[in-house]
Amino acid sequence: MTTARVAQGADPTDWRHELTQVDALCDSAPALCVALVPSLLERARAEGRTAVEIELEYLSGWARHLLSDDALALGSMERALELAITLQDRAWEGRVLQGLASVYNGFGDNLSALELLERSLSIRRELGDIEGLAAALNNLADTYISMGRFPEKAYELLTEAMTLWPQVDRPDGTSATLSGLAKLTTDDAEALSHTDPTSSRTLAERAVQLAEQGVAAAMTAIGVGASEGNARLVAEGQVRLARAHMAHGDLAAARQVLDACALALPQISARYLTIRYHAALGRLHRLLGDLTAAQVTLTSALVLSEGSRPMERADVLHELVAVHEDGGDLSAALETHRQYHEAVMEQRDQAAERRGILVNAQLDVDRVRQAHDQTRQHAAELAAMNRSLAHDASHDALTGLLNRRGLGPVLDSRDGEADLAYVVADLDLFKAVNDQHSHPIGDEVLRRVSQIMTACLRLGDVVARVGGEEFVLVLRHCPPADALAACERIRIMVAAHPWEDLSPGLRVTMSMGGVCAGPQDDAASLAARADSALYEAKRRGRNQVAFIPPPEAFVPEPVAAR
Ligand code: GH3
Ligand code: MG
Ligand code: MG
Repeated sequence: MTTARVAQGADPTDWRHELTQVDALCDSAPALCVALVPSLLERARAEGRTAVEIELEYLSGWARHLLSDDALALGSMERALELAITLQDRAWEGRVLQGLASVYNGFGDNLSALELLERSLSIRRELGDIEGLAAALNNLADTYISMGRFPEKAYELLTEAMTLWPQVDRPDGTSATLSGLAKLTTDDAEALSHTDPTSSRTLAERAVQLAEQGVAAAMTAIGVGASEGNARLVAEGQVRLARAHMAHGDLAAARQVLDACALALPQISARYLTIRYHAALGRLHRLLGDLTAAQVTLTSALVLSEGSRPMERADVLHELVAVHEDGGDLSAALETHRQYHEAVMEQRDQAAERRGILVNAQLDVDRVRQAHDQTRQHAAELAAMNRSLAHDASHDALTGLLNRRGLGPVLDSRDGEADLAYVVADLDLFKAVNDQHSHPIGDEVLRRVSQIMTACLRLGDVVARVGGEEFVLVLRHCPPADALAACERIRIMVAAHPWEDLSPGLRVTMSMGGVCAGPQDDAASLAARADSALYEAKRRGRNQVAFIPPPEAFVPEPVAAR
């Protein structure tokens, strides 16, 4: 996890200041970084700055990983990945995949990490991104190392990384690579210590060299930029150097290195390094024969590792088993070994559990989203139903026109409007239409007459069916002469409609009585006066329009009554 952040991404220039700040905090004060990100994210989102969002999510994910909060780290990294893929930003995709792998390693889920790193690696090869490639190689090797398997694969990867770092002048990368090589070589030396002491010694010498070069490279990196990340690299290199010295049997040198490391640790916030330091110190005490000191050191490391990643806890327990074995306390050794085994198991469980939590969280999100969709759909249906109910209550089912109830608000909203004509229209001798042509034909007549009236009126005018074959028309912004003309038009259109086609011998006419509203009129007075006008039209022989008083200018066109 030492070099996941080394590759730099695209530079959204006008956010550079904020991003640099967050980047620096991520290393030196990860908790502050995590606290700072949400408001910045909100701003970036509001500005539609996806590239900035990626970087912020990534940095916040990395800070959370440093704080051992891998469940939340995973969330941030996954969002960053999603955004990078959406934006088709391959460089960021490669970088985030690598960060994500570190998080999975934190869970102890090395296999997922391997898969992600292979993806990152191939993106970086494809982009010719040397720096990113070297970083991914380092992380991939680290993953194999922490699995304790395929050391030759880790060697191969680190060897390739060693050829890349100098090309991009990155001593921190070199340091991480050397530190990894030192660790592998130390492991080999220790494995051969009983069976092949000569080879073991040669390997240990080599491990010391590698680790020393690693620490030196980390010091160079600090010289270039004194960041917490580089301080971590030094400390990590020192712990590995101390282990190499111990494998070599040079305990005084190991002590010296660990003392130097102890001085630097208080400046480093990452707890895993302190735990690793204590595990190494415990081993040193044991090798020096001071089993009590070893036990005290390792026990305090155990306390420290409470609630930390089980990976580090397992390291400490492993050392403690050896202390008990050396002290001849086999039952304590057995008990500790059981604890060690439990820590390893816990590591796996924790990985599985956290993945489980995440899967559940994802399911929850889906469930909430589904419930939300359902609620929305429900609300839409309800609204549609309400609309339809309201429509039904105010409209006539046969003709689709407003009904008497629907007409109410139209007149209420009149509010002293000038030039408003109120007309009552009534089909002539409609009872006979029903009787002679059937009720369904009568219905069709009502529908067609409704359509004719609607077609003859202007937008904003209103037609309502207020009784069986009785309609009200409200004509707005319509001077009396125009109102009369409109009614005549309707009367003529109704009379002239090809009713014969609907039913042989069918003829339909309509009488209309209209008034023009005065300032004193209300709905009731308009209706009463219009009814009188209608009565007058019927009285005059039907198929007539009667306005009371009649508009002077208009001369009605004669149409033959039936
Ligand atoms: P007038 O010219 O004096 O208005 O004579 P009318 O026959 O039209 O008058 P009346 O009020 O006696 O008859 C109205 C008829 O309208 C009676 C009824 O059969 C018919 N009617 C009312 N509602 C409907 C309906 O929804 N469909 C059909 N087909 N006919 C209806
Ligand atoms: Mg009638
Ligand atoms: Mg009637």
